[in-house]
Amino acid sequence: MNHTRLLIIGSGPAGYTAAIYAGRANLSPTLLEGMQPGGQLTITTEVENYPGFPDGVDANELMDAMRRQAERFGTQILPNAATSVDLDVRPFHVTLDDGSELTADSIIIATGASAKYLGLPDEQKYMGRGVSACATCDGFFYRKKVVAVVGGGDTACEEASYLAGLATKVYLIVRKPYLRASKIMQERVFGNEKIEVLFETNTLGLYGEDGVEGAHLIFRKGESDERQYDLPIDGFFLAIGHHPNSELFAPWLKTDENGFIQTEGDTPCTAIPGIFAAGDVADPRYRQAVVAAASGAKATMEAEKYLSDLNPLA
Ligand code: NDP
Repeated sequence: MNHTRLLIIGSGPAGYTAAIYAGRANLSPTLLEGMQPGGQLTITTEVENYPGFPDGVDANELMDAMRRQAERFGTQILPNAATSVDLDVRPFHVTLDDGSELTADSIIIATGASAKYLGLPDEQKYMGRGVSACATCDGFFYRKKVVAVVGGGDTACEEASYLAGLATKVYLIVRKPYLRASKIMQERVFGNEKIEVLFETNTLGLYGEDGVEGAHLIFRKGESDERQYDLPIDGFFLAIGHHPNSELFAPWLKTDENGFIQTEGDTPCTAIPGIFAAGDVADPRYRQAVVAAASGAKATMEAEKYLSDLNPLA
């Protein structure tokens, strides 16, 4: 069975940054790329807020550069995902999706988060044919079309504002009678004449021949003035939050009510010595590439200290 001193699970900004730091510290880390090599950023296009790129950078190019930088310092990158872990044993035990197994003295969990869906069968049916969870990735296809965004938080408002720059009309479907988003984002939405907010509205389903042609909506469900109607749209964007990819580790680690791994204070340390969490899987709040990258660096610095205490001669 292969053994590594440091296993990094995940290949977003947190994972790759952890690997760059670990490689430069001579830890010869192993990194599991997982199901979505490069992480969530790879489903966006341009990144304009990552420092060092005054003209913006293509998201895939950015992630590829991080990958190459990690490889340059000796990271062994495996194209696998972890399917089970055992954090009760030392060294820790990990099974991969090809059935192979490996052991690790320490692990940095950088498995990120994934967009949430409503759970309607129609979301699957029309996936990639009108349904999207990323306006910046897919907005381009809806120029001069009519779209709807579901959600009332900052992400939904941001996506609606972004889409309003492309589409002729944007409906914001909000289940409550108010927006949860910050004041400034709300003002941006209410001040945009292309955006119409549909409060107290839920989606029952989608319809269309080859792709989305509209949504079945319900207004004030369960109330005396409940009303069902069809809204013609070309695109249906989900912006109802993200769920952390922490299921594998949940039996061992403390998570918050939404499944985000809880670390100690402002550190990436978990309650299990040798196990660290970095990036969006442990960050319910900021969810930014630059923040994830920084937490990956912190995780490796903690792992390095842990490993040298474990075996000072290694
Ligand atoms: P949030 O959890 O803040 O908001 C999710 C929204 O989706 C809420 O309005 C919620 O409704 C709604 N929702 C959830 N489930 C459903 C459902 N099943 N059906 C209909 N609506 C649903 O997630 P965000 O992704 O918006 O934001 C996450 C964090 O990131 C926040 O802290 C936010 O401030 C931050 N952020 C900051 C940005 C910025 O500052 N520029 C940009 C983007 C995010 P309800 O209110 O009823 O629960």
